Amino acid sequence: MSHGQDYNFLRAQLAQATDEVGAVGRKTVGDGVRFNAWKVSLEGSMTNDEVQTLLDGSETALIGVYPVLRVRVLTLITNLTNEELPFAAFMGIRTFTQQDVLWAQGRTTPGKIVTNAKGGESWHQFGLAVDLVEDGDISRTGIQWSWSDNAAYLKIGTAARLIGLEWGGWWKAFVDYPHVQLVAGLSLAEANKIYADAGNSLEMVWAEVDRRLAA
Ligand SMILES: [Zn+2]
Repeated sequence: MSHGQDYNFLRAQLAQATDEVGAVGRKTVGDGVRFNAWKVSLEGSMTNDEVQTLLDGSETALIGVYPVLRVRVLTLITNLTNEELPFAAFMGIRTFTQQDVLWAQGRTTPGKIVTNAKGGESWHQFGLAVDLVEDGDISRTGIQWSWSDNAAYLKIGTAARLIGLEWGGWWKAFVDYPHVQLVAGLSLAEANKIYADAGNSLEMVWAEVDRRLAA
């Protein structure tokens, strides 16, 4: 349990999250973002219900994620619908142990290699990264995970950049099209040190990202 995380402060932080990118109001953050609370304009042909399905289908993956990133990801998902691209968040925070298990996949355990990051080497452990998935059939309830349309995934980058997110598709070593993150120039070494110095608390890591975003 050396990497045990206390999630209680997350609830308080979610409740206090401000609309840092002007996308949602304070009262909507933390207890379900309703489509009609968004100020972003919907220009695509998707219906409100379809967009709402994508936002609702993202909520579980966004639990425990850095609140500013959460708001930006919901904004990204909404903006992508303007280009007829139905994406949802499907993976957010991972514990250090979960990351080690994932790293072993394709190396010491069966399956395909899906990450280059061991525990401590992924921004997912710091709640600063989220993976998206395309909804293969927006007319159905819930998200139908689809990985087949590469062209759709390639469009995430431009939309992510517009709202200040980094996209894994820009990486050289391990191109990761579904991945977006918000680290504000923080290095993994710095994040690990802040996390350890704070007694394995994400709160101080997020405070540092807050500070850098405000600078
Ligand atoms: Zn990722």
